[in-house]
Amino acid sequence: MMFTKILNFLKTALICQVLVMPIMPAFGLPILVVGHKNPDSDSIFSAISLAHLKTQQGQPSIAIALGKPNPETQFGLDFFKLEAPQMMTDVATRKVILVDHNTYSQAPDDIKQAKIVGIVDHHSLGDISTDEPIEVLIKPVGCTNTIIWQLYQQAGIPIPASIAGGMLTAILSDTLGFRSPTTTESDQIAAKSLASIAGIEDLQNFAQQMFLAGEVDLKTAPIGNLLQRDFKNFEMSGYKVGVANLSAFNFELLNVRKNEFYEEMLKLVNQQGYETLVLMLTDVQAKGSEIVLVGTHQKEIAKALNVTLNNHSGWAAGVMSRKKQVVPLLEMVFQNK
Ligand code: MN
Ligand code: MN
Repeated sequence: MMFTKILNFLKTALICQVLVMPIMPAFGLPILVVGHKNPDSDSIFSAISLAHLKTQQGQPSIAIALGKPNPETQFGLDFFKLEAPQMMTDVATRKVILVDHNTYSQAPDDIKQAKIVGIVDHHSLGDISTDEPIEVLIKPVGCTNTIIWQLYQQAGIPIPASIAGGMLTAILSDTLGFRSPTTTESDQIAAKSLASIAGIEDLQNFAQQMFLAGEVDLKTAPIGNLLQRDFKNFEMSGYKVGVANLSAFNFELLNVRKNEFYEEMLKLVNQQGYETLVLMLTDVQAKGSEIVLVGTHQKEIAKALNVTLNNHSGWAAGVMSRKKQVVPLLEMVFQNK
């Protein structure tokens, strides 16, 4: 009798150890705050700014990134003396907050093995689902850091000057210096406040420095790297669609490599099974984008974007925002198939 009890106790203990131990480490570890794949300035700086805020609020958090900072982001990091977030793509068993995205295709590959505890974003509602209620904050503003600035205001927590500088970099980057149609008054208000904390007096001058710093390698970088720099995958009515976006103040640097981009896109379509690839080469000063198309549905897409195609590309006046002006039209083209 006694022996059976002891045996049962040992069995229970063993089961507990097997079941509970793998979960245990997650409790003591900080929350991971992570932006999307092929991180841009908003993804890097919103991870940094939200991790700091959460930590100040008693929830220890660290910023991580799914890739290296691009040259524009690196300029912001150096200018404001911030450290790049640690590169980390394995998030299984960890608590995670997603920033600047809310779809599986842009999240860490093993995100379904992690515990998502929050989302702060400014993209359309994606496909993430969770077992338990979580905090979700999605607003139609120009930048995730605008929302995070509002969170700091609500919490009454001061923003360190360096982090404010990073947040400002992100807002100027996402709104293309307030030129993008995604720009809202909230973005302008947040940027003004952040600029004063960070000690930036001439916003447009700083924005121009930032854009030009981001363009240093447009001439020399391998075309495949450039294409991936701001590349997003979508599933549209079951079709695999990729939309890349590069913007430049000095637009000729991009435009002169248009044919190289086209050849690279052809390769991707053939090797990776994309239905369609769309590349937006955005001219920040002229406020429009040269659109390059590879794959199926080119006629329908060109018509939806009001573009006259000439050798797979054409100018889309006024089109500067992938999420607001391009992705919804693509979704419609593929829905109507
Ligand atoms: Mn982003
Ligand atoms: Mn963003």
